[in-house]
Amino acid sequence: MKTRFAPSPTGYIHMGNARTALFSYLAAQAAGGKFVLRIEDTDAERSREEYVDALKDDLQWLGLPWQEGPDVDKGNGPYWQSQRDAIYAEYYQKLQAMGMVYPCFCTPVELEVMRKMQAQAGLPPRYDGRHANLTAEQVAERKAAGQPFTLRFRVPKGEEVVFDDTVKGKQRYKTDDIGDFIIARGDGSPAFFFCNAIDDALMGISHVLRGEDHLSNTPRQILMLKALGLPIPSYGHINLILGSDGSPLSKRNGSRNIRQMQAEGFRPDAVLNYMARLGHYYENPAYMTVSELGTNFNIANCGSAPARFDEAQLHHWQKEAVMRMDDATWWDWIGAETQTCVPADQKTLFIEAIRPNTVFPQDAKVWADIVFTDLTLPTEAEQAVGATGDAFLTAVEASVDLSYAEMVEAVKAASGAKGKGLFMPLRLLMSGRHDGPELAKLWQLVGRERLLSRLGQVMTVKVG
Ligand code: GLU
Repeated sequence: MKTRFAPSPTGYIHMGNARTALFSYLAAQAAGGKFVLRIEDTDAERSREEYVDALKDDLQWLGLPWQEGPDVDKGNGPYWQSQRDAIYAEYYQKLQAMGMVYPCFCTPVELEVMRKMQAQAGLPPRYDGRHANLTAEQVAERKAAGQPFTLRFRVPKGEEVVFDDTVKGKQRYKTDDIGDFIIARGDGSPAFFFCNAIDDALMGISHVLRGEDHLSNTPRQILMLKALGLPIPSYGHINLILGSDGSPLSKRNGSRNIRQMQAEGFRPDAVLNYMARLGHYYENPAYMTVSELGTNFNIANCGSAPARFDEAQLHHWQKEAVMRMDDATWWDWIGAETQTCVPADQKTLFIEAIRPNTVFPQDAKVWADIVFTDLTLPTEAEQAVGATGDAFLTAVEASVDLSYAEMVEAVKAASGAKGKGLFMPLRLLMSGRHDGPELAKLWQLVGRERLLSRLGQVMTVKVG
């Protein structure tokens, strides 16, 4: 199996096209096949090299390496469509020689009028073939007069294009419903879906997985490849991703590009575990490594109903991924600003205690501030701790140099507090919060001086 990701570098890759890349990558992995990266930069105006660099970085960050593509030529290059003009020209000539293409001199206005008349007559918009049978003289005359023209593919009449979409099942299209379509624009530049089909065939792509917005291109691509005697890959069109509000995924309802997610502190394996299940079903509901996601991937498990983006699910996988980071990676991930807050001799303990309480890097900063700076306890916390009474507070004060276990025993004995009545005030005293790291570790991290200062705040309130 050979799959590919064929992005147009007109922007940063976002969850939609990253998922297409992922499914293609995983399908190849599952079959022990190859994954190709091809840059579809035929739109010279909108394509930018910085987006190519960015998408390569993003794929690398996600952990989806390509076995063939830019920088890895396996004899099918170039892998940039902008460098393949000679190849496309050769196939145009072949089609021309077979009489399968013809120049169309219709102006945009003429085409617009055609569409309007069809709409009025209740017909679907379709090129009516008015220049399909110009004589050689007529063509020569128009060309001599400098009339611009496009190249149209001559769609055979009265046939049916049938293919088994690996995701959507059997698809049938009557060729009579497909008008002769443009494969080269007026300026001679090739139409996107022409290059796309030619390249898939020449690069030996066996399975195309792509967004369902390309479904209607498929019968035309099959017609062209068939005419040229080129191999036809199997096509699968994956469902749209809808935003949380049910409309197509966009910036407004949760979509972001992959670099943004990286900047927000998302882990690549979290994004992968999330996306691999967005429109694809795994029997195993647990966290998987990329290689496990690959082994267990099955195109047949891609659903055709739209997938819905769910931020809570994404966060679930983020928690799973953060739990699995090793210490060095986690330390790196929390960033320099937080790292400098942590005294060298507390680093190991800080990692151990705080890691289970982080979902994003800034959570580590919040805890570094709580344990290593002069925290002002929230009033609510001061009151709750104060309410425990003098015996409790004095026992804590007398235990600041003891271990956590010894302190707990002393406080229990002096105040009779137990269970939640014992542990919650201790937690509130140490951190001002109801949740957080293990108390024994918190006790060590906060340390005697800051503990005394927090106790002082509570006692002042009591006295006042
Ligand atoms: N360049 C196309 C796109 O980004 C690729 C379509 C395809 O995967 O066939 O939408």
